[in-house]
Amino acid sequence: MNCTSDLTPVSTFNAGAGADYPIAWADLERCRVRGELRVRWVVSMCPICAGQHWHGAGDGKVDPRQLLGHRAGHCRVPQRGYVLVDMCPERTAQLVAEMGLR
Ligand SMILES: [Zn+2]
Repeated sequence: MNCTSDLTPVSTFNAGAGADYPIAWADLERCRVRGELRVRWVVSMCPICAGQHWHGAGDGKVDPRQLLGHRAGHCRVPQRGYVLVDMCPERTAQLVAEMGLR
């Protein structure tokens, strides 16, 4: 899946199934796990439960934008997941460049 600036993602991951998943705007965030730099996608406002969720965005060695797209929601209510969409592609591109990811 290519990135980012397209604000109306097409659900190619789901061709044929006819299901529409809600869009979860996500912000890339750096964090440390046991001293190692990682990145994660932060959903500040879940489209399903309005809560905040975090999704792994790789081990800091791959382009986190590869991990956008349909993900299972972490909601406490039953759901079929949502589509993670980069909320700020410019900022993400900058972070990715700073971290030397590709
Ligand atoms: Zn949720």
